Amino acid sequence: MSEHITYTRAIPLRHDVDVFVAGGGPAGVAAALTAARQGRSVFLAEAHTCFGGMGTAAMVPVFMTFSDGVNFLAAGIGREVLAALTAAKGAHSPLPANAIPAELLKRVYDRLLVAAGVQFSFQTTVLDVVATAGHLEQAVCWGKSGLFAVRARMFIDGTGDGDLAAWAGAPFEKGDADGNLMPGTLCSLWADVDVAAWRAAGVNVQELLYKAFKDGHFTVNDPHHPGMWPVGRHVTGGNIGHAFGLDSTDERSLTRHFVEARARLPEFESFYRSYVPGFANLELVGSGALMGVRESRRILGDYVLNVEDFRTRAVFADEIGRYCYPVDIHPSRPDPEHYARFEKEFRETLRYEPGESYGIPYRVLTPRGLDNLLVAGRCVSTDRAIQGSLRVMPGCYITGQAAGMAAALAVEGKTDSRGFPVRNLLLRLQESGAFLPNLG
Ligand SMILES: Cc1cc2nc3c(=O)[nH]c(=O)nc-3n(C[C@H](O)[C@H](O)[C@H](O)COP(=O)(O)OP(=O)(O)OC[C@H]3O[C@@H](n4cnc5c(N)ncnc54)[C@H](O)[C@@H]3O)c2cc1C
Repeated sequence: MSEHITYTRAIPLRHDVDVFVAGGGPAGVAAALTAARQGRSVFLAEAHTCFGGMGTAAMVPVFMTFSDGVNFLAAGIGREVLAALTAAKGAHSPLPANAIPAELLKRVYDRLLVAAGVQFSFQTTVLDVVATAGHLEQAVCWGKSGLFAVRARMFIDGTGDGDLAAWAGAPFEKGDADGNLMPGTLCSLWADVDVAAWRAAGVNVQELLYKAFKDGHFTVNDPHHPGMWPVGRHVTGGNIGHAFGLDSTDERSLTRHFVEARARLPEFESFYRSYVPGFANLELVGSGALMGVRESRRILGDYVLNVEDFRTRAVFADEIGRYCYPVDIHPSRPDPEHYARFEKEFRETLRYEPGESYGIPYRVLTPRGLDNLLVAGRCVSTDRAIQGSLRVMPGCYITGQAAGMAAALAVEGKTDSRGFPVRNLLLRLQESGAFLPNLG
């Protein structure tokens, strides 16, 4: 239907703050914490029931690398979250440092945000912005109490999808030249795994998967199988199966893929039970309450970080951090040709040696045409290749932290996102623990 209606109503102005943050994933959390710790009043609206986004509600089971093998790159908030999670796991935990028991991580985030004095509410969706000539005035939110508005001096988009920036009119790109996006994954939680037996068997799950394809086990023969990770003593988190063709900016697409992905999880249950040692008693106990989304909008900012910057290990005068994860673009179709290309890129070409990294300039956080909105996390201004690297959680802590600090500085100086000397931002970030080796 192409008919439109016009709908007008007065809604309460519920909060009037220095900094408004939309979305409380790793990027939004880092942004809100940083701005609040600089003494700014912050309101964070999170659509879901907890902080953490993909790493909690969507059940992504592990963090990718925080370091380049020599330097701790996600220093500052990233280091603090990792340390708090490690402490929450306890001294005798058998889990590796990067494993995410989601319930522990939810509590870590709750505690940090409460302690920093961030105002927030869950089940609160940002659904619109009021903006004039590239300047945002209010965000319009929906919660169980109804619609309300939040006025702020600075806005940070931590929605992962760049909702706020796109609705405020920022230009963006999505997928490759033909519109292909990385598939999503409905991550899952599995009980009664004999982790020791699995490890001791030393099997290659990928080979077993090919055997299962030959046996006609699956309805979709998807060769790309990230796999299972222990997230408890007898519990694993599954990053398995792909939602091909998912568009996370459209609830109709999300709905279709939730239904399809849930229907296919029993195929993985029987695959693991029958083919993989240690999983004979496997039981599916849950799947993500949020769809795992790898790629959607890339908001275009004052600079577009690109694959050449990855190749040259770029250094920028305005770099707010450095990162190193390989370019990891999951094939958008489950065919061997796409998978072979992915393997080659990931394993051989776009990967660094220890100690190597690329700079992230502040300008990837400043969307073109908007003066008081910053983007952070999965949707910052990059080409598709760099999105495939910077999108992982430690990268999101780096951009989130910088967005929070920049918003705080802008409010302090009564200016906009481009109105303060960038050196002040870098010095302030360094003081708060960020890794900035090129700051002279
Ligand atoms: C299947 C899968 C596997 C992955 N594996 C890894 C891995 O192994 N290691 C790793 O480090 N990274 C991994 N990643 C990447 C990483 O998890 C994400 O890219 C990262 O979490 C993005 O962080 P973010 O803060 O930008 O967004 P998200 O984590 O998506 O968080 C966004 C938050 O904003 C909220 N939100 C969205 N829209 C609105 C709105 N309109 N109003 C209010 N709130 C809103 C959401 O509820 C959510 O909480 C994986 C991702 C996927 C999907």
